[in-house]
Amino acid sequence: MYKRIRLVGLCAVLLSGCQEQSDPEGVEAEDHDSHWGYEEADGPGVWADLSPEFLLCREGQAQSPIDLTDAQTASLDLMGMNYQPATLRIIRHEHLVDVINSGHTIQINYDEGSTLTVDATEFELAQYHFHVPSEHAVDGKSFPMEMHLVHVSEQGEIAVLGVLIEEGSHNSAFDPVVEHIPLEAGGEEHLEHVQVEIDDLLPADRSTFRYSGSLTTPPCSEGVRWFVFAQAQELSPPQIQSFARVIRGNNRPLQPHNGRDLLLHRSP
Ligand SMILES: [Zn+2]
Repeated sequence: MYKRIRLVGLCAVLLSGCQEQSDPEGVEAEDHDSHWGYEEADGPGVWADLSPEFLLCREGQAQSPIDLTDAQTASLDLMGMNYQPATLRIIRHEHLVDVINSGHTIQINYDEGSTLTVDATEFELAQYHFHVPSEHAVDGKSFPMEMHLVHVSEQGEIAVLGVLIEEGSHNSAFDPVVEHIPLEAGGEEHLEHVQVEIDDLLPADRSTFRYSGSLTTPPCSEGVRWFVFAQAQELSPPQIQSFARVIRGNNRPLQPHNGRDLLLHRSP
């Protein structure tokens, strides 16, 4: 069961896209011994030491997350979203077997057919998941949570939409997820009766920070197209607490900009 859980998560983050369908054994075998997490012994500071495949976590020059500051403003917005409603398929993904209350994320795998189009490239939404606290910062300010919507193109390119989450009023759009957060790590649960709508989870203002970065988890693959909404989404303190009690501390520290372009695309 444990290996199966790992595979689902890897499938979502690997640059090669979802190898799960084509070569599940290959993916599993490659990463079989590379346990990683967020503790001192297996956390972001030593990810590169855990496997030769994780070298980019230390050597990479275009890593994520970053502090979103000093952005150049651009007005052109070529992003199109076509998200379909789906039934809830939620898993609590555990990267480690031997550390309790650490290295978890809550992940929602998404049905086929929801797309994000950027500069004429179509990316399909594969899954979304959460970090507590946020990974990105804005002008040095961190947030209580961050949601990542992971999209993969036919060519295997990855585009991630990031939504920063701050404390505020109750947000009922998140209730289907909040009410079904698995308290125990386990396999995927498919809740036929629970509908989720991505559009409702996103901020009203669609302005986004854009830059080229990486996965924020091993193998830290680069070439990931990042879109982080400038407007934070509000969740109530109890809603945030529902996530925090199972995944607190699964955030990678900020990485250097290294002269990368950072644009702020203002929504028309
Ligand atoms: Zn993430």
